[in-house]
Amino acid sequence: MSAQPAASLWIDGAPTEGQGAVLAVRYPYTGEVIATLLEATPAQVAQACAAAAAAQPAWAALRPVDRARVLSRAAAIIRDRAEDLARLETLDTGKPIQETRVADWPSGADALEYFAGLGPTLTGQMIPLGDDWAYTRREALGVVAAIGAWNYPSQIACWKAAPALIMGNAVVFKPSEETPLGALQLAAILAEAGLPPGLFNVVQGGGAVGAALVGDARVAKVSLTGSVPTGRRVYAAAAEGMRHVTMELGGKSPLIVFDDASLDDAVGAAMLGNFYSSGQVCSNGTRVFVQRGLHDAFLARLAERVSTIVSGDPLDERTQFGPIVSPAQAGRIRAAIAAGQAEGARLVCGGPGQGAFVPPTVLADATDAMTVATDEIFGPVMTVLAFDTEAEAIARANATIYGLAAGVFTRDLARAHRVVAALQAGTCWINAYNLTPVEMPFGATKMSGLGRENSAAAIEAYSQVKTVYVGMGAVDAPY
Ligand code: NDP
Repeated sequence: MSAQPAASLWIDGAPTEGQGAVLAVRYPYTGEVIATLLEATPAQVAQACAAAAAAQPAWAALRPVDRARVLSRAAAIIRDRAEDLARLETLDTGKPIQETRVADWPSGADALEYFAGLGPTLTGQMIPLGDDWAYTRREALGVVAAIGAWNYPSQIACWKAAPALIMGNAVVFKPSEETPLGALQLAAILAEAGLPPGLFNVVQGGGAVGAALVGDARVAKVSLTGSVPTGRRVYAAAAEGMRHVTMELGGKSPLIVFDDASLDDAVGAAMLGNFYSSGQVCSNGTRVFVQRGLHDAFLARLAERVSTIVSGDPLDERTQFGPIVSPAQAGRIRAAIAAGQAEGARLVCGGPGQGAFVPPTVLADATDAMTVATDEIFGPVMTVLAFDTEAEAIARANATIYGLAAGVFTRDLARAHRVVAALQAGTCWINAYNLTPVEMPFGATKMSGLGRENSAAAIEAYSQVKTVYVGMGAVDAPY
C-alpha cells in the first residue's frame, strides 16, 4: 500500500522536496510504511514564510468574492473526490473509513463553503462624529502559521485555512508528523481551484519545525491545535513577537447525566464522546458524571452496548473502531488505564488490548482525584463518576484546569440551561455531544485555549480592525 505524495512539502504553489530528516509515515492498522517524506529544514521553513509574505498583499487586495470563488471550487473538488480522500485519511490516521467518509474532509469542505459565503458579506463600520467621521476596515493579519494535531489532520487544515484565506491572509501549515498527508492534498486542491502560489504552504516535521515556523519574523498569527503543554510553549514563543494566537488545546470534559435523562441517548452520547476516532478527540466527555439513581443502569447498558462495537480493519466499512495513531500513543493510553486501576478504579470493560489497538474502555467507581479523572488520556478511556446533587455535579465538573467542552443530559430543560450556564467550558451540548457544525463557534476557556474556530467568530481570529478618522474641516490647534 502506498500513499507517497509527489513531494514532501508544498512551497510557493509547487510540490517541493524536503531537505531535512526522513519521516516514515505508517498506516496505524498494520504499521506498514505508506510514504517516506523528508522534513523541512529551517531554510525551507523560511522559504515558505517568504513565499507567503510575498503573495499575501495581492491576495488581500482582491475583492472578497474573488477569494471566495477559490474556496468554493476547492470545496467542490473535495466533494468530487470524497472517496479517495476518505481512504487517504484512513491510511494516514487509522480511523475507520465509515468515519472518514462523513467527518473529516466533509467537515473541511463545509468550512470552505461556509467562509466562502460569509467573507463577501463582511463590511466595516461608519462612525459619525459631528462634521467629522470615522470608518473601520477589517484587514488581513498577514502570514498565519497554522499547526495541527494528528486526530483530524485534514479537517484541522481546512478549519484554519478557510477563515484565514477568505480574510486575505497567507498560510504556512505544519501538520503533525504522525499524519502529514492530508495537508498536502489540501495544498494541491487549493492550487487546482485557482489559489495563487504562496498562499497555502505545507512544511513537514516535528516540534522543532513548528518552533522555527512560530519564530519566523514574518508570521503575524499562530493557530495551534495540540496539547496544553505544547500550547503553553507556542503561546510564549508567539508572545515574543506580539503575534495573535488561536489555541485549540486539550481537555478533560465533563458529561453530566441526570436521573431523568433518556438512558439510551445518554449512553449513546457517552460512547460517541469517548470512542469515536478511538477516543482521540479533544472535546471528549471523558469524565461521565452519572446521578446515583441512574448510575447502575447506565453502567449496565453501557457495557452491553460497548460489547457490540465492531473493531478491526479501518478500510472495512463495517469497522466502527480502529487502532490508535501510533504504538507510542497506545502505550501511553495503556499506562493511564493501569494507573487508574492501581488507584482503585474498576475496569467495567476494555483494558490494555495489544499492538495498536486499545479497546473501548470504561472505568467505574472512580473518584475525582484519580489520574484517570484529572489527566487527559487522548484515547478510548471513559471514567464514570457517581454524583447526588446538581450543585455537586457542577462544582466537580468545574474542578479542573481544562475548559474545552461539557455536556448535560436531562429532560428538565430549565435545569439543562441552568447547568450549562454554570459550567466553565467553551462549548456545551444539551442532550447531544461532540457535534461541531461549522455554523457554531468552537473553542475553549481556562487552560484548554483561547480564540474560536468556525462560525463568524473565526473572522475575528484571522483579521484586525483598522480605524480611520476623517477630518472634514480646519485643524483646531492651540499652538
Ligand atoms: P501536540 O501538542 O503534541 O502537538 C500538536 C502540534 O504541535 C504538532 O504538530 C506538533 O508537532 C507541534 N509542536 C510540538 N511542539 C511544538 C513547538 N515547540 N512549537 C511549535 N509546534 C510544536 O498534540 P498532539 O498532536 O499529540 O495532539 C493531541 C492533543 O491535541 C491533545 O491534547 C488534544 O486534546 C489536542 N487537540 C485539541 C483540539 C481542539 O480543537 N481543542 C482538537 C484536536 C486535538 P509534532 O507532533 O509533529 O512533533
